[in-house]
Amino acid sequence: MQVIENAIGGKRVRSASTRLAAVFDPATGEKTADLPLSTLSEIDAAVANAKAAFPAWAATPPMKRARILFRFKELLDKHAADLARAISREHGKVHDDALGEVARGIDCVDFACGIPHLLKGEFSRNVGPSIDSHSDRQPLGVVAGITPFNFPAMVPMWMYPLAIACGNTFVLKPSERDPSAPMLAWDLLMEAGLPEGVLNIVHGDKEAVDALLDHPDVKAVSFVGSTAIAEYVYRRGSQAGKRVQALGGAKNHMVILPDADMEQAADALMGAGFGSAGERCMAISVAVPVGDETADRLVQILKPRIEALRIGPATDPEAQMGPLVTKAHRDKVAAYIDKGVEEGAELVVDGRGFSLQGYENGYFLGGTLFDRVTPDMTIHREEIFGPVLSVARTRTYEDAVALIHGHEYANGTAIFTRDGDAARDFADRIEVGMVGINVPIPVPVAYHSFGGWKRSLFGDHAIYGPEGVHFYTRLKTVTTRWPAGIKRGAEFTFPSLK
Ligand code: NAD
Repeated sequence: MQVIENAIGGKRVRSASTRLAAVFDPATGEKTADLPLSTLSEIDAAVANAKAAFPAWAATPPMKRARILFRFKELLDKHAADLARAISREHGKVHDDALGEVARGIDCVDFACGIPHLLKGEFSRNVGPSIDSHSDRQPLGVVAGITPFNFPAMVPMWMYPLAIACGNTFVLKPSERDPSAPMLAWDLLMEAGLPEGVLNIVHGDKEAVDALLDHPDVKAVSFVGSTAIAEYVYRRGSQAGKRVQALGGAKNHMVILPDADMEQAADALMGAGFGSAGERCMAISVAVPVGDETADRLVQILKPRIEALRIGPATDPEAQMGPLVTKAHRDKVAAYIDKGVEEGAELVVDGRGFSLQGYENGYFLGGTLFDRVTPDMTIHREEIFGPVLSVARTRTYEDAVALIHGHEYANGTAIFTRDGDAARDFADRIEVGMVGINVPIPVPVAYHSFGGWKRSLFGDHAIYGPEGVHFYTRLKTVTTRWPAGIKRGAEFTFPSLK
């Protein structure tokens, strides 16, 4: 049985831990690897290596750091298919979707390659007599990243390429469910010439996370995962005096106005609702058609398409959707479907009975559609994170806005319409961090930044892009007086322009 290693101080090392988690192939249900849950001394070793590597790395000219990232990007391009296969084997998403994940990760590396320009500070000459002022952004030290299962390659790349480009060193704690893709990326980064200790990877669970949150040498923490854990990480990390950004869960609504192209809207809902089996924090899980006519038409188009979804393992090139990540998660999603029925939602397509010949032990679930879902139902209030699309009918556009505003999550949302005024009003007024106008999954590109509002993000900074540069650096401003401007004698009044 394969044993997943840690990466500490430039070497892959086997953990001494006797606490093991199992990694599975979700398509077959077979165990593929043992994952040791690192000991506290291993977490300490990772942080110590990162700390030791920091001074030299921070002093390395940004252009040199960027050149390593350029080589990393080339290697990622070359090995994209290997990475995608590693993702699919442990996550279950279909190959093209995994390739898409890798591509969006590479975009973040691409952005980080521009670090010399991104770190350029500001300079003002003559802020006073013979006085100049400049400011720049300096790295923080050791930064930790804690990532979820659903994008095992991309979400870590939202973090470490930019963090190390800024001159920090990094300790990554990936998800226990799919640890192989980040290890493969680490190999490539080392091949690209990254000095040892700059990026370390330790596997583990709550114990490892707590150790990183409490560690005095960890200066900042980036977290992506579910809301309950995000809030916990934010509180505990802040309490320990760290800078924390903690991105949480989501319930993303897509409003469909009566003037929308229904075929387009239905296509968008199929991809955004069922792509990656709904295990995306930007998945659309609630369709909000305005008016009964719009709703009837939408459900009529969606029903046969959901029934015809091609579900299969990642090795099936025709598959549109794979299995769920674990058996426990599959059962949890199925229980949500039970709950929806119990609470009175209308089950239009039931995915619970789905089974795939030859893959009976895989964690598959069919696509599911609920109609007449109301705001108080559990399936509307909670994030299901599976292939379950709810239709919540509203009478008016204002009702749709109120429905979205009533939810605790505010990660992403979308509106489908041909009415420019309505679209503009929606973009202006909606209290959600990422908005799509006729775009169902409005994940910002790498040179913008990603972040939800309300209980979808704890902290002051969105992740990656310009906000990422700010999160991973601190501002320093230097005021310099040149000898010609220095007068004799002490000055006791507050310095001002006289
Ligand atoms: P999760 O919260 O279970 O796990 C995320 C990380 O936290 C993992 O590394 C895990 O080991 C660690 N963790 C789990 N329990 C912990 C505990 N009690 N104490 C400390 N650490 C703990 O999330 P998941 O199931 O891996 O991922 C799915 C969730 O992530 C969904 O809620 C999804 O919406 C969210 N997500 C959000 C975004 C975003 O950008 N907002 C992106 C991707 C995923």
